[in-house]
Amino acid sequence: MGYENSKEAFKEALKFIPGGVDSPVRAFGSVGGTPPFIDRGEGAYIYDIDGNCYIDYVQSWGPLIFGHCDSDIEEAVISTAKKGLSFGAPTTLETELAKEIVELFDSIDKVRFVNSGTEAVMSALRLARGFTNRDDFIKFTGCYHGHSDSLLVQAGSGAVTFGSPSSPGVPANLTKHTLLANYNDLKSVERCFEQSSGVACVIVEPIAGNMGLVPADDEFLQGLRELCDRYGALLIFDEVMSGFRASLKGAQGLTNVRPDIVTLGKVIGGGMPVGAFGARADIMKELSPEGPVYQAGTLSGNPVAMSAGLASLKKLKANPKIYEELARRAKRLMEGFEEGAKENNLPLVTQVRGSMFGFFFTDAPVKNFEDSKRGDNRFFKQFHSGMLERGVYLACSSYETGFISTVISDEIIEETIKIAKDVMANITVKE
Ligand SMILES: *Cc1c(COP(=O)(O)O)cnc(C)c1O
Repeated sequence: MGYENSKEAFKEALKFIPGGVDSPVRAFGSVGGTPPFIDRGEGAYIYDIDGNCYIDYVQSWGPLIFGHCDSDIEEAVISTAKKGLSFGAPTTLETELAKEIVELFDSIDKVRFVNSGTEAVMSALRLARGFTNRDDFIKFTGCYHGHSDSLLVQAGSGAVTFGSPSSPGVPANLTKHTLLANYNDLKSVERCFEQSSGVACVIVEPIAGNMGLVPADDEFLQGLRELCDRYGALLIFDEVMSGFRASLKGAQGLTNVRPDIVTLGKVIGGGMPVGAFGARADIMKELSPEGPVYQAGTLSGNPVAMSAGLASLKKLKANPKIYEELARRAKRLMEGFEEGAKENNLPLVTQVRGSMFGFFFTDAPVKNFEDSKRGDNRFFKQFHSGMLERGVYLACSSYETGFISTVISDEIIEETIKIAKDVMANITVKE
């Protein structure tokens, strides 16, 4: 494969855009090399500006559950766009999409739309703090909730500590309210509750997708619910990634635990920038203009974005069986990767939830961020670049989740497995 045009484009982009990209992982920092610049997508495939074709397992990092250029979504977007791109006034499309979401989620009576997952979580956190009149909240090491200040905190060593910011520009004074606990470890959550004078909420990815794919144990989620109830704190499920991905109802389709607030994004916009947060009516009524907790957005509920989300959700609801199909294919893909690893004496752990899959080059079970970090990045780098070279586009970091879309057929899965086995046969341990 040639990458000359992408190399040139990257050089040009670097002159005008920091790192040449508008979101850091796109720069291929953890795997090296030049990121292919994408020209177009079609079904299961994307094509770069050198004319290379790839099977796409990234799908814009989750949103494209029907693959590229789905005709129903395309049609909805185009016909809505022709009526005007934005009004900054209410449209019935917002109510329609809100209704679909409220119908799907027991935990949501009302919902508000924003423009990204980051915004959804940031607003949900403010709402939880406003509702409880408390400042502290608990998050988990390795869980990502967007790039807003108080959420951009991870642990130093996995120890339970008051958080320190993960980025310059975030005042430590602000993140002192962010308490860190370990994923799948209730004891660490209990310690946070004991240390704090008032916890507003616990925020968790009920299926973590930002330390590789690491599902929460059901006892863990139940334990969080109990602790929140005991201390009068709210439980937030960040389902920006898992919503409409793990199942039609996200992680909530796979557990009986009910959160107080839910955040959504990615699939809900069908490829357009949309986020949402929803909760019980008594919580949502705190939000302005009904209540005092302020939140707003010039382009929020944008009609074109709403119509893309609405078309996606209608398609998903009309055909809920697709999740079984997607899960079956994700399982088969991971089974194939495991076969390849075994044949070539590579350590590999795989996990699947619905249309989401993750794999780690390690021997030990992966239950939290510490476990995930044990994955061997030397193997991952060689695997990633080998797959790319052979036309398989995987996320360019071992801390990301892979996705199956409805247009990735059994044949494509088998083809991918064959390629993966060849690539694994050529992985060498280099010091
Ligand atoms: C992607 C993601 C976000 C942030 O969403 P953006 O649209 O990138 O701002 C928040 N939470 C989770 C769980 C995510 O996966």
